[in-house]
Amino acid sequence: MSQKPDKDKRKRQRKRRSKRTLTHAVTHIRLIEANPGKLEALERLAMVYLALCQHYVTHFCTQADPNSYTVPIYAKELSERWQRVAIQQAAGIARAFRTNRQNAYDAYLEDLADYAEAKAKATASGVPLDPKVKEPEFREWNLPELRVPAIQANANVVVLEPSEDSTFDYWLRISTLDKGHPLRIPVKLASYHRKALAGRAINTSTALHKRKGVWWLTLSFDENVSLQTEPRAPCVGVDVGIANFLTTSTGKQYGTFHGKLAKRHKRDREKRRRKAKLRACLRKKGVEKLPSTSSESSQRLGRHMRQQINRAINQMLKEHADARIIFEDLSVASMRFKARAMNAYLYASNLAHIPKQLAWATAKRGMAAHTVKAAYSSQECHRCHYVDRANRPDQSTFSCVVCGYRNHADHNAALNLSSRFGDQELATCKSKAEVKALLLQRHEAWKKKNGLSVVQPPAQLGLWDHPEASTGLG
Ligand SMILES: [Zn+2]
Repeated sequence: MSQKPDKDKRKRQRKRRSKRTLTHAVTHIRLIEANPGKLEALERLAMVYLALCQHYVTHFCTQADPNSYTVPIYAKELSERWQRVAIQQAAGIARAFRTNRQNAYDAYLEDLADYAEAKAKATASGVPLDPKVKEPEFREWNLPELRVPAIQANANVVVLEPSEDSTFDYWLRISTLDKGHPLRIPVKLASYHRKALAGRAINTSTALHKRKGVWWLTLSFDENVSLQTEPRAPCVGVDVGIANFLTTSTGKQYGTFHGKLAKRHKRDREKRRRKAKLRACLRKKGVEKLPSTSSESSQRLGRHMRQQINRAINQMLKEHADARIIFEDLSVASMRFKARAMNAYLYASNLAHIPKQLAWATAKRGMAAHTVKAAYSSQECHRCHYVDRANRPDQSTFSCVVCGYRNHADHNAALNLSSRFGDQELATCKSKAEVKALLLQRHEAWKKKNGLSVVQPPAQLGLWDHPEASTGLG
């Protein structure tokens, strides 16, 4: 056996990097109730599976590291293959839980440090702390609870077989509690499923879940997209916000929560308030059947917001088709911070759609996209690197208190993100405090290089102050 020379290896690696695999999900394939007994057997299996999966989720969240290769520890009526699938699914859920909880806890520690700093400043200066500023608190998270029967299966337990019969497209062969007697459930595709899957090699992993009494199947297929972006393509930074969904380092803005969306949000809130009042009133009168509090309209609003976000992203990518896209490595916690002004979790979750969609939309187009650390990107001066809250006199304005650099706040942030691509020193910072220290060090270097001449900020306040932008956070 001859060893492959290193040169070949490098070539292979380069090739791998120039292609990306996108996994497309084909959802909402309804399982037909050809034979009620069959779905009952699936039901029994799902209940046992769900309970086992829950055991492992709790185990991985509280005791052991979420390792997919854990040796089965709960003796169950399920086969070893099924136990393996449950362990893998539980490990995935626990990993996500642990990461999100840790991010939230880190955000809390940073808030706490900010609070301590503000308090120390107040004590030193003799100016009392704003009574509205409260010491942050951390409430421990509840462990994940599996409520919806859901199975993420592999070919060891669930196999999709083509149907010879023209009535159905496939058979789903599921191993059950009754060993040697697999369940075979017919799968009939809708025409749009067939269109999506035409000419594709369907992945062997499948997902099943039950909602409102109906079983649904999700299939998926992979697509290889080759990278179109040139190695020397210009970097375009993208800042994410509410006042402007996207602001690029080229100075353009796309999409906004203000205007129509904000009006709809207001109407929706008023409607819910009226409904709550009506319910309270009816309950007093002893009416048993109360009108529902279902938030269907807020769900619609969320959908609409995501549509607007997608439109903004498509427009932005169209206008920067040859660029390398650099955006913020946003955690749910920082999203919450951005959404704080808008009062609700709903907006945080919809805002979190932006980076996900950015990653997907660039991958689909074969565009290079990278995330960079977002810490202090909105407070750092793009010219002299000075970091200070005071650089942001209001939400839409950036005005450096040292060098006098002025810009729209989101544009300044986008420029910072753009130049953070390839910044190894910044990428290796382990905390927000380390990022701040590094930036201030760069500021000192800038001052030395440019002399100590401090330019007074121009007396042009109000340049960026327009009423619309005053509520968004950047
Ligand atoms: Zn500056």
